[in-house]
Formats: sequence, C-alpha cells, structure tokens
Amino acid sequence: MRAMLLDRPGAPLREGTLPRPVPGPGQVLLDVLACGVCRTDLHVADGELPDPKLPLVLGHEIVGRIAELGKDARRFKVGDRVGVPWLGWTDGVCAYCRSGRENLCDRARFTGYQLDGGYAENTVADERYCFPIPETYGDVAAAPLLCAGLIGWRSLMAAGKAERVGLYGFGAAGHLVAQVARHQGRRVFAFTRAGDVNTQTFARELGAEWVGASEERPPEPLDAAILFAPVGALVPQALRAVAKGGTVVCAGIHMSPIPSFPYDILWGERTVRSVANLTRQDGEEFFQFLSRAPIRTETEALPLARATEALDRLRRGGSLRGAFVLTPG
Ligand SMILES: [Zn+2]
Ligand SMILES: [Zn+2]
Repeated sequence: MRAMLLDRPGAPLREGTLPRPVPGPGQVLLDVLACGVCRTDLHVADGELPDPKLPLVLGHEIVGRIAELGKDARRFKVGDRVGVPWLGWTDGVCAYCRSGRENLCDRARFTGYQLDGGYAENTVADERYCFPIPETYGDVAAAPLLCAGLIGWRSLMAAGKAERVGLYGFGAAGHLVAQVARHQGRRVFAFTRAGDVNTQTFARELGAEWVGASEERPPEPLDAAILFAPVGALVPQALRAVAKGGTVVCAGIHMSPIPSFPYDILWGERTVRSVANLTRQDGEEFFQFLSRAPIRTETEALPLARATEALDRLRRGGSLRGAFVLTPG
C-alpha cells in the first residue's frame, strides 16, 4: 500500500510503500477513504511530542471502509464505514480507565503517534475505538469530526454551562465548536489574529456575535474561553476576558510557554485547565448530538501525496477555511 512516512521528526514526509497491514485479534482492516490533517500531526512531525513510533504513518481523523475483519472482530461487517480517532487503545485496568477517564490512561496508545494512522491507503484499528459515521456526512466532510470535532466537543463540555464562550483560534476545531455552541443556545465570541478579515468573516457567518483580535477585550466578560491556538501568551489574555467563576480551557496537546501573570486575574474562582485526548463516551455523545443537530464542516481536500504541503500550509496558518483532508483515491 502507498503511505506517507515520517522517518524522523523535522524531515519532510516520504512517499513509500508498505506491506498491507494484517488485522490482529479484535482489529479491522480499513480502506482509507479520507484522513484529516490535525495540528497534532504537525506537533509530531516537528518533534514537539516525544517518542513517536518511527517510521510513522501520521493521521488520526480517519474515515475508512472495512475491508477485512481480524479474529474475534464482530462489532462491524465488511463494507461498513467507520471513523478512527486519536484514542487507539487503552489498558482498561488502570485507575483512570476504571473511573471513566480512559482519556488519561497511563498506557494509552494514540493513532498516528504510537500506532500507524491514516496517511495511507490502508490502516488497521481496534474495533472498540472506532465510531460509525452518520450517513449524512460525506467521507471528506466527516474526517474533521474525528478530532477537531471531538476535542472541540470535550473542550466545550469542560467549559460547563458557560453562556458567553470565547474561542481563541478559529480554525478546524473552532469553526465546529462555534456551531455546536450556537445550537446549544450559547453566545460565541471569536478571537483571531489581528487583521485576519477572512477568518473573522467566516466566524460571523457561523454565528459569532462579536469578532476581534486576540489582544482585544470582548465587549462584555465571558463565562469561558477555549484556546485552540497553541500560544501560551493567550492564557493570561483569556483570563482577563473571563468573568469571576469563569474557565479558560486549553484544548491543544502542545502550547508555547505560558508567561507569568498576576494572581488577581486568576482570583475570583477563575479556572485554567487543559483537555487531553477523548473518551469513547465523548464520541458516542458527540455523534448522537450530530444526528439531532447536523453541523457543517469546511474542508479542503488534497491528494495523499500532497501531505507534506498540507502540513506546511497548516504551519503557516492553515487553510483559508476549515481543515485539510487527504484522500488516497
Ligand atoms: Zn488505563
Ligand atoms: Zn487531532
């Protein structure tokens, strides 16, 4: 099978050929239909996350059709279309797994990081961590739901009942969370790079009632802020924008250092927290929500061979709209 391979962090991806993987017990073999490009892929490719499997097939927003079932794999049939997310395996026995927090499992393995992912014609996945994909979504349109959508969902849940929600960084995840938040009756405030008129227009189209630069104060205090941009300097800025009791949620897996800040911007029971990975329950709840409230994903499809270009463009600021999705066909 053709695959785009990361030989070592910092190197461009190499187009190569690997033997088609064989599904082990409880696994399914997929023909990859589409695979989204996530900022985490960039952090792995650039060496900002430690100890990836090498050589590695990146990609954890996989939409695929089941081509073969491993021994004892019974959850799906050949021909079913499923999604494979970042969480690829957990041990099921550690204290985190036993308390409904498998996203924090000590021995978790992640797709496109410790397990080969979807920048390829085929991949294998543990069937227990796959999700059925709603039929209303095409292959390319569904791909960003599997990480940008899911992590965005978990981040919004971490913001609790917040009514006024600020989104810092309005890209792959932000444009999905904005729609979920609006559907739940929340008010959305979008923060972008100063002068990024295209993104600000996009945010307004998706229901943001106010858009501005990250350095600006919103017209009224927020109840929560979600940071999708991996920029530590945004943490004190967001803390200054939230009201007493408000939460600042850091949604990324990697962030530049957070500058020190005076205690009085945290005082008043403000919270700063991160969101790590996802649980299968997040996925079930998110896809149930989508079946009641379809949200629109904005994508730009590129052939698999152009994966390095997609990563370069994401590093420079991303697509004008939404997310890049690779298609092997
Ligand atoms: Zn565990
Ligand atoms: Zn991701």
